[in-house]
Amino acid sequence: MVEEFDVLIVGAGISGVGGAFHLKTQRPNTKFIVIEALDSFGGTWWSHRYPGIRSDSDLHTFGYRFKPWTGPPIATADEILNYMSEVITENELGNHIRYNRKIVSANWSSLEKRWEVTAKLTEGGEEEHFKIKFLWMCQGYYRHQEGYMPKWPDVEKYQGELVHSEAWPEELDYEDKEVIVIGSGATAATIIPAMASDCKHITMLQRSPTYFRPGRNQIELAETLRELNIDEEWIHEIVRRKILYDQEIFSKRTFEEPEKVKEELIEGVKSLLPAEFDVETHFTPKYRPWRQRLAYVPDGDLFQGISEGKASVITDEIEAFTKEGILLKSQQEVKADIIVSATGFNMNVMGDIDFQIDDKSVDFSDTVTYRGMMFTGIPNMLWIFGYFRASWTLRVDLLSDFVCRLLNHMEDIGASCVEVALRDEDKNMELLTWMDSYNFNPGYLLRATSILPKRGDKAEWQHTQDYWREKDEIPAINLNASEFNYR
Ligand SMILES: Cc1cc2nc3c(=O)[nH]c(=O)nc-3n(C[C@H](O)[C@H](O)[C@H](O)COP(=O)(O)OP(=O)(O)OC[C@H]3O[C@@H](n4cnc5c(N)ncnc54)[C@H](O)[C@@H]3O)c2cc1C
Repeated sequence: MVEEFDVLIVGAGISGVGGAFHLKTQRPNTKFIVIEALDSFGGTWWSHRYPGIRSDSDLHTFGYRFKPWTGPPIATADEILNYMSEVITENELGNHIRYNRKIVSANWSSLEKRWEVTAKLTEGGEEEHFKIKFLWMCQGYYRHQEGYMPKWPDVEKYQGELVHSEAWPEELDYEDKEVIVIGSGATAATIIPAMASDCKHITMLQRSPTYFRPGRNQIELAETLRELNIDEEWIHEIVRRKILYDQEIFSKRTFEEPEKVKEELIEGVKSLLPAEFDVETHFTPKYRPWRQRLAYVPDGDLFQGISEGKASVITDEIEAFTKEGILLKSQQEVKADIIVSATGFNMNVMGDIDFQIDDKSVDFSDTVTYRGMMFTGIPNMLWIFGYFRASWTLRVDLLSDFVCRLLNHMEDIGASCVEVALRDEDKNMELLTWMDSYNFNPGYLLRATSILPKRGDKAEWQHTQDYWREKDEIPAINLNASEFNYR
């Protein structure tokens, strides 16, 4: 049996659920389905189970623009899942979502102007077949089944427990255990304070330091507005505007006066640590602020653990694993009962789906991206890839409006196919890697450069990662411009 839908949304994470909401409210007659590989909604917030899992950006902007966030700005995964559950229930999205099936292939038929999509049930492997007019990729950007673990020498000699933050064993008992967490990003900064009071001691082992932004897990403006009995809808909107205003200024400053911002960030950390702590070695990064995601540390909990002696930091490289722990390049051996690898994830392109156009395989690295959402040579498809310097979800709302506008436009002009193509003036444009590594260079992006689509040097042909520019540019996109070809 082949089922037919106007739109198929791949993934029921924050992007897919947001997309479903906008499609249902802005285009109520669209027949759509959401296909999700996991057994529930939430994506990142469902698949990550490590202790303390929480957002690192505020929920007024990570939450959707259409549903007020009423809790503290930094939220746990459970709180985010509850919020998403309310969105699904309140808007009757549940009967559009099918879980436990993975999209494995998508073949565009030029003749039928349809995507022929195959999903495989995760249990039993039975196949489902769909014909789809428009494919909306909300599959995120990394593999949920596996994390990235570097190939450390002699790792097999280690006799303790080695776990990855992305595959947390539910029954892991760390009470009174010596623990090492390898990594220095937001994940390590979350796991360490969450485990510190239960284990014997926890050590953050990092190759190089990261910037952290400690602050209270409370927004004063929101609290004041609540005391004044202002409606939550208003509070949500006002607080969003205030946060985005402040973030724009901060983001600009990281480019205009990086040294000053660096100094301020390091001072913020220093003020939470004992006077004798070696901040220069452990919390003074070598890169410009915002070149990697800046992690917010609510109530400075990471630094509290360090100050109280429950947690410590080692900045060194791993020479090899030993029977009892890790031998560092400095020749110090650190022993541990449990080693947590908080070393990030493996990016994938388009959910590891075998894409074809008229039965010919697609290599996304041969395509050029239109604003980080569409791709040359790939008809009727859009991908939501959010922001790094602002909340991901801001782009979900923006691109959802765009998808609905594009579908309305196609209906108006009687087109069943839209494709982006380089214009005459773009033909000699230099093609560059997906992300400018001077602008933003986390390890997972650098490792995936060869599989990602290309970017040009004009705003139309790249993901600028600039919400403040896109919030005006995307709604103003001229759908009759020559980069859009309709059939
Ligand atoms: C631990 C962690 C914390 C983060 N914190 C923040 C934060 O605080 N703020 C922020 O802005 N960003 C944060 N991010 C980035 C985060 O991933 C995004 O903000 C956001 O959650 C991504 O949502 P998404 O729906 O696009 O993708 P995902 O959350 O990755 O969800 C995609 C869904 O698609 C499904 N899927 C994928 N491929 C297929 C397929 N072939 N068939 C069927 N289903 C498929 C997956 O199973 C998954 O459920 C964080 C990331 C991580 C890993």
